[in-house]
Amino acid sequence: MILILKPNPDPQALKALTQHLTDLGLTVQPSGDRDRTLLVLSGDCARLDIDRLRCLDLVEDVKRVQSPFPLADRRSHPEDTVISLGSVRIGGGEPQIIAGPCAVESEEQICEIARSVKAAGATLLRGGAFKPRTSPYSFSGLGPEGLRLLAEAKRQTGLPIVTELMDLSQLPLFEEVDVIQVGARNMRNYVMLKALGALRKPILLKRDLSATLEELLLSAEHILAGGNSQVILCERGIRTFDDYTRNTLDLAAVSMLRELTHLPIIVDPSHATGIARLVPPMALAATACGADGLIIEVHNDPMNALCDGAQSLTPEQFGTLMKKIRAIREVVTA
Ligand code: PEP
Ligand code: MN
Repeated sequence: MILILKPNPDPQALKALTQHLTDLGLTVQPSGDRDRTLLVLSGDCARLDIDRLRCLDLVEDVKRVQSPFPLADRRSHPEDTVISLGSVRIGGGEPQIIAGPCAVESEEQICEIARSVKAAGATLLRGGAFKPRTSPYSFSGLGPEGLRLLAEAKRQTGLPIVTELMDLSQLPLFEEVDVIQVGARNMRNYVMLKALGALRKPILLKRDLSATLEELLLSAEHILAGGNSQVILCERGIRTFDDYTRNTLDLAAVSMLRELTHLPIIVDPSHATGIARLVPPMALAATACGADGLIIEVHNDPMNALCDGAQSLTPEQFGTLMKKIRAIREVVTA
């Protein structure tokens, strides 16, 4: 880390600052010229409070040289992380398609959808048992029964299951869940992230509606720091000033994250747009920019879906999209 001091710093204040930093175990190396003093800090700077340093009278600016997310950073891990679930490999190659309803509604519904998305080429099944809803009067999922039905659909189709954990108290019920989803609203639930860091199970971490990429990567770092290296990032649309679509899909985030991190990056065009007819073009665009996968809402009766019917594809629409995804993939990897 480099502290850039204002011209002619007060010698007493400079001495006190140097002492403070040395007491923290850092090596302080003064540098610069007559007009500008720099303090080059080496050692473990991760715990330093940059904002507090910036507020000091003698400090003009602080430049961080070390990564704020060393474990997620591609510089510390140049190869792509690949997460294996049986024969399904997420990251570093063939994109994986997670498909299924927003919410599990009945055994018939989830098993029928699971069969049709599998036939179309999906490799994982999604479905919410615990649903975060904006309105307290909306359907909030079948809870433990929803998890049981997902496990049944997994038994019938062999598809690994992805479902959202809304609260740590639900974790004992997630034994049969293959990928635990942390929803956008919980991206900043650091107590939950820390607990998930103690597991050895893949975590699908969705970007909060207002999170910068650095904040998303710091949330991933909370999980990685606990020793769980299986984190999948998900761009699912962020909130901007425009309201034609439910959110604004930030596809540049996929390419930027690819540079910043080795973790797999998938895209959710369903929650990003909120409109079923916009899902195929955005799914294709995400495939074209190299996403490691997609998570797409599919419902056998969108008109009567209990949650997010407006953005759900029918199994037929999903089948057509899957063919186009394959075609785009061939072009991109040619
Ligand atoms: C979901 O995938 O079901 C969901 C609620 O997504 P998000 O957390 O991105 O809103
Ligand atoms: Mn949904």
